[in-house]
Amino acid sequence: MPGPMREQPMQNEIRPHTGNTLRCRGWRQEGILRMLENTIANGERPEDLIIYGSTGQAARDWPSYHAIVARLRELRDDETLVVQSGKPVAVFRSYPTSPRVVLATCNLVPRWATHEEFERLRAEGLTIHGQYTAASWAYIGSQGIMQGTFEVFGACAQQHFGGSLAGRVVLSGGLGGMGSAQPPGITMNGGVALVVEIDPSRIARRLETGHVEEAFDDLDTAWRRCRAAAAAGEARAFALRANAADVCEHFAAASERPDCVTDQTSAHNLLHGYVPSGLTMDEAHRLRASDPDAYRRRAGETVARHLRALLALRAEGVPCFEYGNDLRAAALANGVEDAFELPGFVPLFVRPSFARGRGPVRWVLLSGDPADQRAADEAARALFPDDLLLQRWLSLTGKWAPIEGLPARTCWLGYGAREAMMLRMNEMVARGELRAPVAVTRDHLDSGASAWPARETENMPDGSDAIGDWPYLNAMLNVAGGADLVAIHQNAGNIGGSISAGMTVVLDGSNETAERVSRVFASDPGIGVVRHADAGVPEAVEFLANSDIRAGFVD
Ligand code: NAD
Repeated sequence: MPGPMREQPMQNEIRPHTGNTLRCRGWRQEGILRMLENTIANGERPEDLIIYGSTGQAARDWPSYHAIVARLRELRDDETLVVQSGKPVAVFRSYPTSPRVVLATCNLVPRWATHEEFERLRAEGLTIHGQYTAASWAYIGSQGIMQGTFEVFGACAQQHFGGSLAGRVVLSGGLGGMGSAQPPGITMNGGVALVVEIDPSRIARRLETGHVEEAFDDLDTAWRRCRAAAAAGEARAFALRANAADVCEHFAAASERPDCVTDQTSAHNLLHGYVPSGLTMDEAHRLRASDPDAYRRRAGETVARHLRALLALRAEGVPCFEYGNDLRAAALANGVEDAFELPGFVPLFVRPSFARGRGPVRWVLLSGDPADQRAADEAARALFPDDLLLQRWLSLTGKWAPIEGLPARTCWLGYGAREAMMLRMNEMVARGELRAPVAVTRDHLDSGASAWPARETENMPDGSDAIGDWPYLNAMLNVAGGADLVAIHQNAGNIGGSISAGMTVVLDGSNETAERVSRVFASDPGIGVVRHADAGVPEAVEFLANSDIRAGFVD
């Protein structure tokens, strides 16, 4: 039975409940409530319920938040709470194996899915921006970005450099919130990172946090330092204070070149993000304020030069890719007609994994006890001794994935491996090897869970990039399989740009949960394999043919 209602916390003081006491009628409701609390506690502006990505929100407003909490506390084991864009709207009777919570966030009718209409609806208090994991209550702090970046550079190493970046220099730009995961992502794979950043305060911050170990103002000195470290096989991370476009242009014309080049400057925003060449950070601030049109024009010229330099490097055989920052779209809009000749990171490095149903899962130890996190890590190590990328990631998490909120772990696991790991943890809960249940969830960026033509579904072999059916099918399958929470979102990134689905299962140690786990962790990545095979991705076609998934009935 639920415990007595505590006093409502101050609005900016949400902390996830820990330990073994239930405030709800069961662990499935309690687990979901702790995930909501954990998401807010890890958010960028918890006082505004803003979690990440500038506007990604966990609940419509504070009254909605408190109503969600109250409904979860009283929710029965055969009831489902319905949440519409962050506001709880109804509770219906369902089945014990049905989801306890279903959510739909920011889904606009396609022709009305414009920035202006969204802003109008948001101002009216009718919707919120859910991003991926903000409104599905699956955010766990910075670990997700760190691990994803590690995976991308791991796949890059695999594809181009025999499995390791040792002896290689990777050049990139931007040491912001997302970009600062690049230096560790590169060094964790054995390489030397040189990240160009224009803002000295960002560099100072990353020196302080240890994301980079040395910073330079002079390109020649930085390059000599990189070459020496690479020659010695050292994994090192350096920053260079400069404009990324200038540095890429320099290397496009130089005789010595980095081994791989990408970029994570904020090119998606040519007024408030990307900095034009020839300006210091202070000068950029002044021009932005005094003459925004001139700023935009100069940023556009720079982004075009930046992209042309990347294409020139690529023509010389240097692996180059866009890393999700809209650099190509910005360059195209500024006259680089072949901007999309530069490949995106998903088709290159993520799709081969997604095609086989391998992707990100994250588990959250609801006890709050770091000992539980260590035990779960140990279980993963023991279950997958041959997964060298996973083993390396787990050995580095102590340094790069500190506990934020509830102890959590994210890693990439394949089809079959996900089910095996979740069943193992469910068993650990049952045997008391973990002190409380575990909530298992994932990013919406996963095999079958996202349709985003500018990213996850860019350049599908059959041209089906904009087909939005698959995330809906994914969400419905997760309801059918008995996930505890199922969410369907639109518009992560730009309004009108994507459709995605999320899910959470709470491992309470019961046999009935083990049954649901087997269904959900087969169909959730399984529909991703089917989506990719249907599109003709060769890895998926081959994987499907050798798997137990029954699919592909019509050629
Ligand atoms: P941010 O705004 O926090 O940081 C961007 C950094 O780039 C800033 O420090 C800025 O000073 C620097 N910068 C801007 N123009 C520069 C230039 N010309 N030369 C050198 N430095 C320059 O952004 P962030 O959170 O780090 O995200 C970076 C980009 O990645 C964004 O465009 C974002 O949309 C994108 N992103 C991609 C993914 C993905 O899945 N790949 C996920 C999230 C964000």
